[in-house]
Amino acid sequence: MTAPDRPSLAHGRSVLAIPGPSIMPDRVLNAMHRAAPNIYTGELHDLTRSLIPDLKAVARTAGHAAIYIGNGHAAWEASLANVLGAGDKALVLATGRFGLGWGEQAARLGVEVEVIDFGKQSPIDPARAEAALRADTEGRIKAVLIVQVDTSSSAKSDVAAIRAAMDAAGHDALLMVDCIASLGCDVFEMDAWGADVMVAGCQKGLMTPPGLGFVFFNDRADAVRAAMPAVSSYWDWVPRTRPTEYYQYFCGTAPTHHLYGLRTALDMILHEEGLENVWARHEILARALWAAVETWSVPGGIALNMADPATRGHSVTALRLPSPKATELRTWAEREAGVTLGIGLGMAPPGSEASHGFFRIGHMGHINAHGLMGVLGVIEAGLRALDIPHEAGGLSAAAAVLAGR
Ligand SMILES: *Cc1c(COP(=O)(O)O)cnc(C)c1O
Repeated sequence: MTAPDRPSLAHGRSVLAIPGPSIMPDRVLNAMHRAAPNIYTGELHDLTRSLIPDLKAVARTAGHAAIYIGNGHAAWEASLANVLGAGDKALVLATGRFGLGWGEQAARLGVEVEVIDFGKQSPIDPARAEAALRADTEGRIKAVLIVQVDTSSSAKSDVAAIRAAMDAAGHDALLMVDCIASLGCDVFEMDAWGADVMVAGCQKGLMTPPGLGFVFFNDRADAVRAAMPAVSSYWDWVPRTRPTEYYQYFCGTAPTHHLYGLRTALDMILHEEGLENVWARHEILARALWAAVETWSVPGGIALNMADPATRGHSVTALRLPSPKATELRTWAEREAGVTLGIGLGMAPPGSEASHGFFRIGHMGHINAHGLMGVLGVIEAGLRALDIPHEAGGLSAAAAVLAGR
């Protein structure tokens, strides 16, 4: 540990490097710092309407976008409630805690859930999905639930390949995708890849304080909604996407300040930087991070959870360290250097000895080259301070990726 005569070096602006909520741009926060607006008429109505096409642009869909006051779990439930009811069946293809969690939520709604668990270090295998759908000769599976980037394992799955597997099986289930960790970070093409429903939240790639959940859906999913015997009035996506009165957008009072914040965040993403550039920035920063960890990595030391770069998300990275070093490193980084790293989630039972062998770095949204290098520099210092075996040179390897040479 740090010598007792060393003061903490954490004083100064602290940095949150957890996979959500992400760092909020000052501009987003400033846009929210205002007196309460009129919710019955005027500017807020125009602003709300302006958000819909921009949300659809981020999702790459010509379909519909519904906004809910809620977190990602609310968006999960909203999506399920519109197309699945008690007695219906869903197939969950899980690559970590979040896929399993969405499936558990469906089960609580009375949905019969079949889970294929790909473990904590693998993406979804489309061939196994195809086999499961072919085995469903009675066509009972109404929806397939997947997570593009599971935030617990940082496993990224190939959404287009899963759609192709569903088509190859000749199955007409809806493809429902959780992009809560990946929207506005990893490339995602809702329409081109054939996703019918997509859920997201505002507090990760979209850089807005937690509080808004989004459900995107196409006409195929809307037809399934229309055939539902009942949908709760709060979760129903129909009035939210085709309101005849303003209050129907939110089934009540609008999330006034969040809308101002989101407006600024979408301006930054779509109208200033450009979505393709946002994707490219996340990819380059992710590659720099992986290069650093691969350089540090020695037996008994730090390691990336996902071996194949093609299966790693660009917004979050799950890492392994022999227990309890991961927890010690997180504690050191926060106390001594002002950087908060993410806990390991879903990799081992909470509170168990093994759970101290995992941590995560969030690199989503408002993060740039110097922000990432700061986090990596602190981790390298922590590896040294805690005598965790590692090869030097991680920062140089990251710098080479940032420099492009
Ligand atoms: C964060 C996250 C969720 C849950 O969102 P909350 O806002 O915490 O409810 C679900 N799925 C994924 C992939 C996430 O990253």
